[in-house]
Amino acid sequence: MTADAISQQLCVTCGLCCNGVIFRDVELRASDDLARLKTLGLPIKKTGKKIRFAQPCAALECSLCKIYAERPSYCREFECVLLRSTIEGNTEPAAALRIIRTTQKRAAKVIRLLRELGDENEHLSLSKRFKQVTKQFDTGHLTGESAGVYGDLTIAVHELNLILSSAFYPGSES
Ligand code: SF4
Ligand code: SF4
Repeated sequence: MTADAISQQLCVTCGLCCNGVIFRDVELRASDDLARLKTLGLPIKKTGKKIRFAQPCAALECSLCKIYAERPSYCREFECVLLRSTIEGNTEPAAALRIIRTTQKRAAKVIRLLRELGDENEHLSLSKRFKQVTKQFDTGHLTGESAGVYGDLTIAVHELNLILSSAFYPGSES
């Protein structure tokens, strides 16, 4: 199978590097056409010296990039560890797909628990949502039954981070 065919098979099923599970945002570079990317719907912001847009990405639709042909340079260059390993023949495509599905299930569990705690900020990355809920817990806003759910959430986030950092992106952190 060619690298393109493997990428098609895995990435179309996955979307984890675009949907706010692995990354909080994407940094743009001097070579990117900012005006054009804004026109295409990316909510680009300048923070300090960096220009970025937040994830979950506004251009993502059902694990597909709506602006694929014109996507930013970082997006073009990014390959997660799992994709690279599959392209190099060190991981079978079927095994890679199983890892993707397991990760999606773990992310779905984190989202379910966040919702149970009243967090419905679906437009934010999982790491930001978890941070916000943790702040509520630390300031005593979560008590009783919610504290138990928060405990389950911390375990679910830990399990998600384990698979993200081992299989996808060593620097990832939800
Ligand atoms: S995380 Fe990896 S497999 Fe998933 S969409 Fe991104 S590059 Fe593809
Ligand atoms: S622009 Fe496309 S490839 Fe880049 S983060 Fe958004 S959906 Fe993913």
